[in-house]
Parts: sequence; C-alpha cells; structure tokens
Amino acid sequence: MNVSEIDVITPKSVLECLEILAKNRGEYRLIAGGTDAVVRMKDGHFRPSVWINSKDLHSLSFIKQVENEIQIGPLCTHTELIRSPLIREKADLIVEAARQVGATQIQNMGTIGGNVGTASPAGDLIPTLYVLSARIELSSLNGKRVIPVEEFFLGPGKTDMKPNEMITKIIITPQTENELGIFEKLGPRKSQAISIVNVACSLQMDANRKCLGGKIAFGSVGPTVIRARKCESMLTLANLDEEMIENIGEMAWKEVMPISDIRASAGYRRDMAKALLKRGLFRLMKRWEER
Ligand SMILES: Cc1cc2nc3c(=O)[nH]c(=O)nc-3n(C[C@H](O)[C@H](O)[C@H](O)COP(=O)(O)OP(=O)(O)OC[C@H]3O[C@@H](n4cnc5c(N)ncnc54)[C@H](O)[C@@H]3O)c2cc1C
Repeated sequence: MNVSEIDVITPKSVLECLEILAKNRGEYRLIAGGTDAVVRMKDGHFRPSVWINSKDLHSLSFIKQVENEIQIGPLCTHTELIRSPLIREKADLIVEAARQVGATQIQNMGTIGGNVGTASPAGDLIPTLYVLSARIELSSLNGKRVIPVEEFFLGPGKTDMKPNEMITKIIITPQTENELGIFEKLGPRKSQAISIVNVACSLQMDANRKCLGGKIAFGSVGPTVIRARKCESMLTLANLDEEMIENIGEMAWKEVMPISDIRASAGYRRDMAKALLKRGLFRLMKRWEER
C-alpha cells in the first residue's frame, strides 16, 4: 500500500485540531507516534482519507502533579514516562509497563495517548491505568468531559470516544508512601511482542507485612482489560506471604475468562495469568521486605 497518497494535516494548536475533528465524519484519524495506526493501515485494517498529525501539539506533552493527581499529556512517549522522576516515584508500575512496550524505537515514538486510543485488550499501559484509578479527559469543541478508564473501553478497538473528540489528558491517582506496584507481561518473545497476558497490581501495605488492600487488572484475557475483583477481595487485611500468594494465584486462574486466538489458547492464558500474578506478588513481597 502506498502510504504517501494519504493527506496529512498538521494542526498547530489543540483548538485547530478540535475544529478539524468537528468536521470529521469518521474518515479522519488522529495519529501520534504512528506505531500502531500506520501498521494497522498497512495490514489493511483501516485507511483514513486524512491523517491528523498531532505531533506538533506540544501543549499535550506534559507530566505534572496537580494537588492529589498526576496529569499526563497524551503525547508523552513511553521513554518520557520511563524517565520521569514523578512517574518513577509515584506510579512505578507505569515505568515497568512502558519499559516492556516493544523495544527502544517503539518506546521513543509510541505515546500513552496512542496506547489508550488503540484500545487493545493487550495494550501494556492500560492495566496500570486501571489500578491507578485513571480518568480520561476527552475534549471537543463542545467542551471537556472526564470519564473513568473502566468506562472508556467498550471492547477491542472500541471506546466511548466520539469522532469529534480527542484525548487531552490522562489523570492518575499517585501512589502513597505505603503503596507498591508491579507490572508483569508474557509475550511470545522478549521484546517487540504484544502481550499474551499481562497484569498490573498495586498494594497498600501497613508497617508490618499486612496488606490493607489493593487493585489487580489483567490484560489480554477478555475483550477489555478486566479488574480481578475476587482476587482483590483476598488482599484486604491479609498477610503478604507465600500462602496468600498461592491462594490468590488459584483465584486468578478461576476468575479470568480468556479466549483462544492466534497468539495462545484459553487454557494457556489462564495458567499464565495465575503464574504472572504470583510472580508479581512475590516480587512485591521482596521489595516490601527490602524497604
Ligand atoms: C513492533 C511493535 C511492537 C509493539 N509492541 C507493543 C507492546 O509491547 N505493548 C503495547 O502495548 N503496544 C505495542 N505496540 C503498539 C504501539 O506501539 C503502542 O500501543 C503505542 O503506545 C501506540 O502509540 P502511538 O503514539 O504510536 O499511537 P498511534 O499509532 O499514533 O495511534 C494509535 C491509535 O490511537 C489514536 N490516538 C492517538 N492519539 C490520540 C489522542 N490524543 N486522542 C485520541 N486518540 C488518539 C489514533 O487515532 C489511533 O487510533 C507495538 C507496535 C509495534 C509496531
């Protein structure tokens, strides 16, 4: 396919971009790093009549703390997330996930807005956003609305975003001093690999080994990322020890309902969901002991 035949518009401000989107009848498509959209087009999935290149919208590239929330611009690349002292300190599991997206080239080009906008159930940043209670800010010429991440995703490639809207902010709740997070992923190979299963987990601990509560989200085991609420209920007021981790692993095996597809069978995914969560919780236990 000849990519150069497609028109590209490069708006210079968010307002100009929203004006272009307002005329959109679903045939224009925003593009950030292009690492997903262009590959999909070449595979024959979607060919817009016009690309809207958002890379000049520098005002959408920020990472900052505003009162009790961390605000991330959709144009932040995976590399910027990895290097951000704020994200390292207060949302460490995003760093772990971003480090495992593709390889260095993809991390330099690919953005958090693109990862969310693709709405793949295997998107590596998405489970971390679930456990950090993220909210997605969508803007259009009509104004802004903010929706919880769990209401944003409707199915593979499907979101609650309207054709005249774009993501202008991703808001997360920073981890407190007693919170620790992990991200684990299984891909068909070490890098440049879409997840077969991934999991993010954040635990709130007390001074001893007691877990006060936490959140767990699995990717690639359903049409959207899912929260493992039965597993989560076992975290509250439990001691973070080997027995607890074994029990939660068993529950994860029962709770996820994956399908078989080209990348893995349902049974393998289920086994790996259990194994990844256990591996992550053991890692968290060790990190907590070493603090
Ligand atoms: C070799 C290779 C390896 C990969 N490995 C991984 C991996 O390990 N893990 C993983 O999660 N992904 C992986 N990907 C997919 C992709 O690189 C990431 O999802 C990346 O974060 C996408 O960001 P982007 O800026 O390139 O998105 P783009 O391709 O520019 O856009 C993707 C989608 O998001 C929409 N979008 C972009 N910005 C906005 C916005 N502001 N508002 C609304 N919609 C928007 C676009 O319209 C498009 O539908 C891989 C891709 C390749 C080619």
